[in-house]
Amino acid sequence: MRPFLLKPVIKDYIWGGTRLRERFGKVSDAERLAESWELSCHPDGESIIADGEFKGMTLSEFIRQHPEAVGKDFRSGDRFPVLVKLIDAKDDLSLQVHPDDAYAEKYEHDSGKTEMWYVIEADEGAEIIYGFKKKLSDIELRRAVTENRVMDAVRRVPVKAGDTFFIKSGTIHAIGKGILLAEIQQSSNVTYRVYDYNRLGIDGKPRELHIEKALEVMDTEPSEVYPTPETERTHGLKLQHLADCPYFHVMKLDIYDSLNDVGRSCFVHVLVIDGSGEVEYDGGKIDITKGSSVFFPCGTENCRITGKCSVIMTTA
Ligand code: ZN
Repeated sequence: MRPFLLKPVIKDYIWGGTRLRERFGKVSDAERLAESWELSCHPDGESIIADGEFKGMTLSEFIRQHPEAVGKDFRSGDRFPVLVKLIDAKDDLSLQVHPDDAYAEKYEHDSGKTEMWYVIEADEGAEIIYGFKKKLSDIELRRAVTENRVMDAVRRVPVKAGDTFFIKSGTIHAIGKGILLAEIQQSSNVTYRVYDYNRLGIDGKPRELHIEKALEVMDTEPSEVYPTPETERTHGLKLQHLADCPYFHVMKLDIYDSLNDVGRSCFVHVLVIDGSGEVEYDGGKIDITKGSSVFFPCGTENCRITGKCSVIMTTA
């Protein structure tokens, strides 16, 4: 099977900006582009195959018909494990937490959500919120949240382009304004909002908070700084392992010349975050540029990426 391009689903949440259109060529009728779901089989927004013989089909339908394209042990009807997004935060996102698998399966019929961020652009002074400054007792946590003081307890971390964060389910977090990042997460859409800066939604009402559920799933240990990923340099290539966990494996690659043998034992998703090049496969090639999203089915052979580009590569 050959690799193919994916067309994303665009979300126009109130805090979105214009950089996904300006920098990544994302197309939408919406004014604000908050998120583009670049690799998604989640029912809340499914990627569409954009070229080749399956053009026009949703990725989830393709996977139902060809489960072997995900991996050898994947069966038709299994839940696709990951979701890859670009996120442009013009404004602060709500302070939030996601449940783990056990809680999400039981109460939401969805997966839990562990996620990671790779910061692509950050304005001067941009920050994220990542865990608590110090350990809180359950009573301190409840009081901080219900008395609107939770912002005093969380840790703010200044960010710059190239920073990586790993956000385990249960960790309180928020993306701050002025940050554009790639998010790789479990395929889940369960978010419990803890604090929303007293903002009003599009309908003029405050957006719903989910305090009780958030308190149930929140981890009150102080967060640890995620170590800076090691960089490996090989011929024509710079490679960083951004995250390895039971749900996903993510690398950032700076390709100066070519990357050979993409694919094989598991599906591979490639998101181009800078530069341009080509995906070459037996019988053809695909032009890729900043913002391109390419799915390599498991077992793809004799496939390579050439050109000068930086990509986020995700496998399960
Ligand atoms: Zn999140």
